[in-house]
Amino acid sequence: MTGLPGVPVTEATRVALSRADAHSAHNYDPLPVVLESAHGVWARGIDGVDYLDLLAGYSALNFGHAHPGLVAVATDQLARLSLTSRAFQHSLFGDFCEAVSRLCGKDAVLPMNTGAEAVETALKLARRWGYEVKGVPADRAEIITFAGNFHGRTIAIVGFSTDPDAHDGFGPYPPGFRTVAYGDIGALSDAITENTVAVLVEPIQGEAGVLVPPDGYLGAVRRLCDDTGVLMLADEIQSGLGRTGETFACDHEGVVPDVYILGKALGGGLVPVSAVVANWAVMGVIGPGQHGSTFGGNPLACAVATEVVRMLETGEYQQRSRELGAYLHELLGQLPRDGVAQVRGRGLWAGVELASGQPPARTICERLLARRVLAKDAHEGTIRLAPPLVVERHELTWAVEQLADSLVDSPDPL
Ligand SMILES: *Cc1c(COP(=O)(O)O)cnc(C)c1O
Repeated sequence: MTGLPGVPVTEATRVALSRADAHSAHNYDPLPVVLESAHGVWARGIDGVDYLDLLAGYSALNFGHAHPGLVAVATDQLARLSLTSRAFQHSLFGDFCEAVSRLCGKDAVLPMNTGAEAVETALKLARRWGYEVKGVPADRAEIITFAGNFHGRTIAIVGFSTDPDAHDGFGPYPPGFRTVAYGDIGALSDAITENTVAVLVEPIQGEAGVLVPPDGYLGAVRRLCDDTGVLMLADEIQSGLGRTGETFACDHEGVVPDVYILGKALGGGLVPVSAVVANWAVMGVIGPGQHGSTFGGNPLACAVATEVVRMLETGEYQQRSRELGAYLHELLGQLPRDGVAQVRGRGLWAGVELASGQPPARTICERLLARRVLAKDAHEGTIRLAPPLVVERHELTWAVEQLADSLVDSPDPL
């Protein structure tokens, strides 16, 4: 690892980076910073520098690092009861399931840990619903997904990824998936057959570069699903829980999916918690022994997630995301045209697509790091911004100034 232009990498940072590089699989290519503590929107490196975190763990840190209320709940629970397995009931499980169901306006929850597991769970649920309720012939169920999707990293999920890095070289992949263009209701309609059981959709495609579908699209997907007897599965793992200025990104169009898939911020940035949430008409098809997870719904996860729901039910975080998001988008809209081609997103979530002639987004993120801002590229030409929802207005002002300066840097020395 070499230093960034203008920023000397300290010896301690250099050593930590090279040790990690020597002994970890190279499935990531992290920016050259080594963090050791964080509060709110600020993370401190072992170099003693404070960085403003505009990635927020891909929206897992919607409430900021070490949110005091969440840390208190987690610490208390950790000493009390951390794991029972689902072989035994624990005292927080009922509260958790009720809270998450209430947040989604649904009947029931199936808790898992990571986002990918929750997506897999939703796919299994939809297939079984297809066979038991819709009457699809055995092993013929089809699920429709979208070009540019990101739903996690399991074999089934990467099987329908259209990103070669994520997809290639891991086959054979499970059949039963069909991928159509995102945002094109005609393409979706053409792909639905009598064996289609579900449509798996991100209400905003995050990893693809914060792509917001055309107005009315989610509503049209909902109507098409209703008309054809197909389940609408909304992957709100990144878009949900306040990120876009509403509890769910589907709320912007008044759309209620059949199944919500939640993760990331549900664990408050402290523990992995994911969930599939649906009415009994769907959830009822899963019985004992037919799905599960050792850690899913554990007491620590339930304590934290129930507090997350309580925090979201105040509406405070959604409001912050709406108001500060409008401010962020206003600032980004003022960036020069030779720097930025387009800004997409909703609430405190933005995909900043660089103008042609700009260096790769990764280079801009390195320049941002040198200016004490943590951000991540989403594909070559887009920088994804998703600050914790506890960010302050002046911090956004400062961060966008750093971005503006990063766009006009003189060419990087080779
Ligand atoms: C992050 C993400 C996932 C996968 O979550 P993991 O916890 O990393 O498995 C799935 N879907 C979307 C939309 C995501 O952003």
